Amino acid sequence: MVRSRLAGLGLLLLLSLSGLPAVAQQVEYERQVDVAPSEESIGEGYVTPEVQRPRPRAMHWQVADVVLLGLAMLAAAWLALKSRRRAGLVALSIVCVAYFGFYREGCVCPIGSIQNVAVALVDPAYAVPYYVIAIFVLPLVAALFFGRVFCSGVCALGAIQELVVLKPVNVPPRLDRALGWLKWVYLGLAVVFAVLPAAMRDFVICRFDPFVGLFRFTGEAWLLILGGVFLVAGVFVGRPYCRWLCPYGALLSVFSRYAWRSFSITPDRELDCGLCTDACPYGAIEERRAVRTDCFACGRCYRSCPVHHADKADDAARPAA
Ligand code: SF4
Ligand code: SF4
Repeated sequence: MVRSRLAGLGLLLLLSLSGLPAVAQQVEYERQVDVAPSEESIGEGYVTPEVQRPRPRAMHWQVADVVLLGLAMLAAAWLALKSRRRAGLVALSIVCVAYFGFYREGCVCPIGSIQNVAVALVDPAYAVPYYVIAIFVLPLVAALFFGRVFCSGVCALGAIQELVVLKPVNVPPRLDRALGWLKWVYLGLAVVFAVLPAAMRDFVICRFDPFVGLFRFTGEAWLLILGGVFLVAGVFVGRPYCRWLCPYGALLSVFSRYAWRSFSITPDRELDCGLCTDACPYGAIEERRAVRTDCFACGRCYRSCPVHHADKADDAARPAA
């Protein structure tokens, strides 16, 4: 029943995608070098090439992004840690995929900001906007308080993968752990390429982002196909990009280790029967306890818990005051 509802939800989401380009933000462009030769200065039928770059985001959009990011993480923390209901987290995921993914075109992105921050640390001439620093720092600070609430349903890349997990299989723990090292390798390579001298510098996290092309309905064909492959594989293998490749996820796993409070499975509030272990598609439950470095706070384990179902039934049976 729940599976068929989720499948319907996924189908609805995919169908609605076809209309999204029309509502995506309008990015304004300007000529890259205003003093470059133009048709007027050269003459003789010369046509100025359409070399343009996007204008910086308006200040109000930057502030809105930071505020919305903070509010969304607070909502995720409340839904995951206090209310313990997965339905709210699914709704939050849909909203965040729609806004941060399709509307903002995947570019209010702590993952990519790793590179800006790395360059700023080694190159005093490189100015990184406060807005980018805030986007980089906020999810890490949130992880110190509440664990990986950014991953639970706020990050558009994670949320879109979360929504397609329908028939997850268990990945053998040893393989899971071995693949998990890839994200550290990727993080190291991304930093090395970012801090190269300016002429050779490359932001590989952004260049090889497998989902941003899907959010923008444009991009290199192989990257669009790769994004599609991740989503199709993600139906059966929970969040492959998050678990094994995301460089920001590597940082979040470190910060969440020291979280003040994080997602928990506790004998006093849950049955402690082990059903949750089978329900976690990410192998993030060991000995009936959520592993705080790996737990995405998705709430699937609570949904599988008989105690929580009993609570809901009690709530429904209780007469309204
Ligand atoms: S692991 Fe990375 S891609 Fe996945 S939700 Fe977290 S930050 Fe986003
Ligand atoms: S333990 Fe697993 S199922 Fe439970 S919230 Fe964490 S990632 Fe989700």
